[in-house]
Amino acid sequence: MYQALKSILRRVLPTGFLLKNEPALRSLYALFYLGRQFECNICGTQLRTFINMKNGDKMCPRCGSLQRDRRLWGLLQTGLLRDNISILDFSPSRCLYRKLKQTKGIRYTSTDLSGHFFADERFDITALPVGDETYDLVICFHVLEHIEDDRRAMQELYRVLKPNGAAIVQTPFREGDIYENEAIKTPEERLLHFGQEDHVRVYSVAGLRERLQSCGFDALIMEYSGAETRCGLKSDDVVLLAVKR
Ligand SMILES: [Zn+2]
Repeated sequence: MYQALKSILRRVLPTGFLLKNEPALRSLYALFYLGRQFECNICGTQLRTFINMKNGDKMCPRCGSLQRDRRLWGLLQTGLLRDNISILDFSPSRCLYRKLKQTKGIRYTSTDLSGHFFADERFDITALPVGDETYDLVICFHVLEHIEDDRRAMQELYRVLKPNGAAIVQTPFREGDIYENEAIKTPEERLLHFGQEDHVRVYSVAGLRERLQSCGFDALIMEYSGAETRCGLKSDDVVLLAVKR
């Protein structure tokens, strides 16, 4: 029902109107989902269920957060989101962009080169136009798998972080080694080999950690597993915390 309604609205209403009024439209739609069993940790709405997406993801009807957004927000609440820090966020989801923009006491900059996300800047992650040691925290969620020269990107993240600053990194993962092949160039081939038309590799957790380490980071693997949680998180999930020592 969610997908059908979304495609109807997209056909009959201008995109600008939809984006501007997204929070109000979602508030109305969320009325069908209200309950007590689940709770979105980003918008605080209590739900009888999340929207079950075709790909297995669970979306909050109220704020549009996906599992990865709620994972990231939960992680930020563990002490990473402190007063007076500078944050650089790559290609943020709209719900987290809105949430972080409203968060008092932080300096939040979002950036997206593609123009598909809400962003203040259009930085190229492989050539960031900012000085060394600018940020306390970088959010790089589901970005590196799109970047051909990912080592250069990691070096840039390292450069712009302050000492003891951290990058929170997640990508899709596979077992074994990183899978990449420069000969695979077309969208069709990339979809087939890497799972999405604009992905250029699939990382393994260990492979991503090694690559971050080779760029100077201390990379900590945070693994999550267990039964379904109240805020609808993925039952097995991995996030890397790359710290500049
Ligand atoms: Zn929500």
